[in-house]
Amino acid sequence: EAAIEARRLTKVFDGPGGEVRALDNVDLIIRKNEFFTLLGPSGCGKTTLLRLVAGFEQPSGGELLMDGEAIAERPPHRRPVNTVFQSYALFPHMTVAENVGFGLEMMGRPREEIGQRVERMLALVKLEGMGPRRPNQLSGGQQQRVALARALANQPKVLLLDEPLSALDFKLRKEMQIELKRLQSETGITFVFVTHDQEEALTMSDRIAVMSDGNVLQIGSPTEIYEHPTSRFVADFIGETNLLTGRLSERMASSLRFELDSGGLLEGQEDGGNETGARVTLAVRPERAEISREGSGLAARIEQIVYFGTDTHYHLRLDEQTPFVVRHQNRSGATSRFSQGEEVRVTISPDAIRVLQD
Ligand code: ADP
Ligand code: MG
Repeated sequence: EAAIEARRLTKVFDGPGGEVRALDNVDLIIRKNEFFTLLGPSGCGKTTLLRLVAGFEQPSGGELLMDGEAIAERPPHRRPVNTVFQSYALFPHMTVAENVGFGLEMMGRPREEIGQRVERMLALVKLEGMGPRRPNQLSGGQQQRVALARALANQPKVLLLDEPLSALDFKLRKEMQIELKRLQSETGITFVFVTHDQEEALTMSDRIAVMSDGNVLQIGSPTEIYEHPTSRFVADFIGETNLLTGRLSERMASSLRFELDSGGLLEGQEDGGNETGARVTLAVRPERAEISREGSGLAARIEQIVYFGTDTHYHLRLDEQTPFVVRHQNRSGATSRFSQGEEVRVTISPDAIRVLQD
């Protein structure tokens, strides 16, 4: 069931250099109770989409529905939505408890109810007993938890989170990722989370919408997005990927053959809707390829070996124009069997080859 639906949603801003199409005919369904992530580089329209849902901006075209009802006419305070921003925007002169209870106070709830709700919210974000403190007596991570508690206090149906973790340092960010995921499943509130960090999106989301330049390019679960990217942009933006160009040269009984521009043949399973003879771009994840000294794989030369502890990355070249990365997981005590400058063979399992649509 849809919590939020966008139909050909468009937002155009008048900038100093002319019109900016921040959102261009976006179609999107966010389901109830899901952890939904908008992922894309800076400037692709993520914040604009959140601001339209929150009601801080009006669409230039298209429709926006909440629980199946058009909401364009509803002012922000009449939408069952709250927002958490990157900057926590806490009131510095108020205590933590007053910050968390602020929205309920504005709604005129009875004092006793506010007190109880604030306690519950502080427990939910693991800040029991911190109520009397002031924001400046808390760490960055704790302040972000207060902002979360405040946003959850009046029980919104949808919580919008605009890069809420990007100001935190690495370790704290990892902690808060798990924390947010827990909060979402415990409260059952629909979370719409914005990030430009692909790893964050993959680890936290039920589903991800990958955005570029005002468009939604692909929507799917983390595994769908990672394992089956349909475009060059998505393949490249999510994780590391090898791109190979060539031609769909032959159809066989149960597989397809690709002739690569860099030389050699690859066997695959999907044609991406292409006719025999068509030019194609193939994507291969670095962990889905193997290197060996002998055999029938693609010829390659090792340019560089980078050790990462958990795995080792082999930077290869298939020819002058074609770099290729292979990632091997390191088993305990194993050291690289290969050396820089070595001529090797790359083998890729047919089910690891994706044919990109654009
Ligand atoms: P993101 O959050 O993905 O970084 P934004 O939604 O903030 O992207 O911005 C999308 C595009 O719209 C950008 O090109 C940005 O410069 C432009 N934009 C956003 N808000 C305004 C505004 N109020 N006036 C003019 N241009 C804007
Ligand atoms: Mg933004």
